[in-house]
Order: sequence, then C-alpha cells, then structure tokens
Amino acid sequence: MAQTSGVRWTPQVDASPAPVITAAGASHPGAVRAHNEDAWLVGPPIFLVADGMGGHSAGDVASRLVVESFADLRDRPSITVADIEQAVGTARTSIAALATDPDTAPGSTLIAAGFVAEGSQGYWLVANIGDSRAYVLSESGFEQISRDHSVVQEMIDAGEIDSDEARVHPERHVITRAIGAMPDSPPEFVLIPVVGGSRLLLCSDGLSGELSDAAIERILRDGEPPSVAVARLVAGAVEAGGHDNVTAVVVDVVDSGTDRVATTLGHSFSSRPTVDTIPTKKKAS
Ligand code: MG
Repeated sequence: MAQTSGVRWTPQVDASPAPVITAAGASHPGAVRAHNEDAWLVGPPIFLVADGMGGHSAGDVASRLVVESFADLRDRPSITVADIEQAVGTARTSIAALATDPDTAPGSTLIAAGFVAEGSQGYWLVANIGDSRAYVLSESGFEQISRDHSVVQEMIDAGEIDSDEARVHPERHVITRAIGAMPDSPPEFVLIPVVGGSRLLLCSDGLSGELSDAAIERILRDGEPPSVAVARLVAGAVEAGGHDNVTAVVVDVVDSGTDRVATTLGHSFSSRPTVDTIPTKKKAS
C-alpha cells in the first residue's frame, strides 16, 4: 500500500481556538488489477483523489496529470472556485494531449476539497467530476456530500432503481463526466463550513464500491488518526474483494494539542453544517 504519513497544517483563520488540520492518504491497486490508475494529493490547502481511465496504461498518466495540475495550489492561504476551474482546465489540456484515438481517450475523475478562509470561518470547497466521492462525518451525522456523475445515479434520480440496486447494476462503473474523456464535464461545487471534530473522506469508487456507507462510517467513527483511518479503509476494501484500485484521503479538523478527532466530536465551534451549491460561472473549457 502506498501511503503518506500524516500531514499537519494550521490554516490562517482568525478563530479561537484555531483549528488544526491533519490529513493522510493511502492507495492500493486492489486484488485484481495489475496497475494502480488512482492518484491522490495531500497538499494543504488542497486535497484530492483522481481515478484515471484509458487504454494502454494511459489512465495512471491521466490521474497523475490531475494531481500535477492541482499541486500548484499548495501552500496558498485559501482556495477559490477560479483556482479549481483553472487547475481543471490545465489538467484537461494536458490529458487531451495524451489521446491518440478518440475511442480510447484517457480521462480522470476528480474529487477535491480546498480550504477557503473567510474571516474567522473556514469552509471546504468540494469539487466533483465523475464518481469519486466526498463524505463528511460530523456531530450531525455521516453523509455523502458529492453527487455521482454516473449512469446509475441518473437512474436513481429518475426513480428507476434504488441505491442497493445501483451497487450491483451492470452499468455501475459508467460515468457521465470526466476530465479529458468527455468534453462537457464542468466540476460540481459544494461549500460546507469547516467544523471542529469533523472528518472529511475523499475516495475512489474502488472504496465506495466495496464497502457500504455503514462500514465506512464505522471505521471513521473509531477516531484514529488519518494515517490509520486511511490504511484501514483501503485494507478493508481490498479484503472485501478489491475489484478496482482503492484510494482514500482523510482530512480531520482537530483541537490543537490533542490531534484526536474523537475527543472533539460534540464540541463543534460552528452550528450544524449547511450545504450550498455554488453555480459555476462558466463552463470549463
Ligand atoms: Mg475506480
């Protein structure tokens, strides 16, 4: 398993107590595939998972190009919608340059979370393209905060199937947006307040396809540091079948001093999270 050791970062917000962010990522090719076409970035204030696709091992190059495009955002105090749209545009251009045949054009999903500093409050700006996911565990519960861009999600939205049927549907891997492979694929944005004691999980479908939401929630609720949580999540998905590459990034908002998410759960310094969808100003080209 490829893994980052834990990263610790103190965002520049005028809050007391100052929030501290701790994070880690892990990835495994799984039990079936020879190559790992997933990639991830733990580079505060930006965190992401990318799931590449494409013949002749172009998928791993595509997801790596997504990481390289976003790596320029490291070490900034705050992330904007324009920053993410620009990084997506850069990734789209460099992935398009890989394509030799339009039928096997490489592409990549993106699930990214950037820290937004707004006075004394921090926000996670979550951007999604495809079917990698973002989940949040906080005082108010555990929920998926990204919406899959997939054929089965459209069938769920239309009331044709439920989420249990989607998990085993033959078209469950077919996505409707991607960086590269599909031209009209703008990111979908969600903005949520950064709440003390909350955990953010970014993952590829190799995790969410093997472990139920309840199983993912159980591991996150154990409150171990991010480096332990990501290792357990990835190992759990590989043991459950590992049919696809598995990647997880966990980002915690902790009390300075303890670094333990479990000790801060129930002591949030913000009210119940609210979810706003930010309209994209323009279609990313
Ligand atoms: Mg995958």
